[in-house]
Amino acid sequence: MTTNLDKKALVVGAGLAGMEAAIKIGQAGYEVYLVEKENTMGGVTGQLFSSFPRWENPRELVDNRIQTINQIEKIRVLTTTTVQSARREGEAFVVDLQKADGQVEQVAADAVVLATGFELMDVSVYGEYGYGIYPNVVNSLEFEDKLREWSAAGSKADRPKSIAFFKCVGSRDRSKGNPYCSKICCMYTAKQAGLTKDLLPEAKAYVFYMDYRAAGKEYEEFVRSVIETKHVRYVRGRPSKVLPENGRLVVRAEDTLMGVPIEVEVDMVVLASAIVPREGTRVLAGMFGALTDQYGFIENVPFELRQTGNGVFFAGACGFAVETAGAQAQGAAAAADVVALFNRVPQGVK
Ligand SMILES: Cc1cc2nc3c(=O)[nH]c(=O)nc-3n(C[C@H](O)[C@H](O)[C@H](O)COP(=O)(O)OP(=O)(O)OC[C@H]3O[C@@H](n4cnc5c(N)ncnc54)[C@H](O)[C@@H]3O)c2cc1C
Ligand code: SF4
Repeated sequence: MTTNLDKKALVVGAGLAGMEAAIKIGQAGYEVYLVEKENTMGGVTGQLFSSFPRWENPRELVDNRIQTINQIEKIRVLTTTTVQSARREGEAFVVDLQKADGQVEQVAADAVVLATGFELMDVSVYGEYGYGIYPNVVNSLEFEDKLREWSAAGSKADRPKSIAFFKCVGSRDRSKGNPYCSKICCMYTAKQAGLTKDLLPEAKAYVFYMDYRAAGKEYEEFVRSVIETKHVRYVRGRPSKVLPENGRLVVRAEDTLMGVPIEVEVDMVVLASAIVPREGTRVLAGMFGALTDQYGFIENVPFELRQTGNGVFFAGACGFAVETAGAQAQGAAAAADVVALFNRVPQGVK
């Protein structure tokens, strides 16, 4: 077998998926450019306060991966950098990378891994919930910051007495949102409601849900423990309106199990907004001849789960909603495809 250790890979996006892809390609002995538009690696996982299903500190995972990357000489990390353009030259790509200071660096890559992740849908289209109007109506990522603030402030925290969590906002909704289920929000909502009870034991936490989906190792047990041991109250029903009243927020909903309309007074509403591809994903995919689906998520070519074009692979939430372990696993799988491509033995040669 011949190996071509002079081959180079470009990984776009340094969240969990992109970091894992870069690590595995670098460990196999190939050079990697790991391009990240922000000034730090870690993606959304780096912004989380705690993680399901084991209440782990996501910072430890991100720091471990950054440390590993820093130990691999073959990986060159380029933060505050984006892809300006790309063109094919033979089997390889010539890529112009744009730095924050406006400088452009040209690199050649024999394979590309797209790992640009996701963002949350702008749920201000649900005017009845008041996102963007009432300051205490926040999305689920903004709420991770609140958890961190309350944890740091300890007893000095300005404590809400009651918080309502709305699931499926912008998901499973053909009229204003997306028809698909965003897959991870049942789990992170349970986590956030459970953490609320840990940090603010006096506060009430209500989760409004249509149903809950907890299919994963230890997931069902996780949600059950939040309901049974942390005493988060799950209310079956879709809230119809949030109204300001005397400095608080009134949530109007129907309890579909009891068949009665209900009103709950809270200090904060947290919207589990739909997972959508990051802005610019379609344009980036187009530069590399990668496939996207009707929503703009990156899609695989038939029969190859992590391949999206000729020499182009993808991993993580740019393909669809996924939890951190899944993003990491997909990063490793995309790396295996890249290494297999680099080590490919011509047919008939032994
Ligand atoms: C509120 C919330 C709570 C969550 N809680 C949990 C949890 O408890 N447990 C769990 O397992 N999962 C949780 N998740 C899911 C977790 O965040 C994802 O699984 C993970 O972030 C996916 O990693 P990724 O690398 O695919 O994408 P991302 O984390 O989105 O990383 C993508 C990276 O690509 C970069 N990028 C994007 N575009 C470009 C570009 N054009 N050029 C260069 N760089 C680019 C971004 O800046 C980012 O660093 C949660 C998600 C949310 C929204
Ligand atoms: S994962 Fe749960 S909260 Fe998210 S869209 Fe699906 S059912 Fe709704």
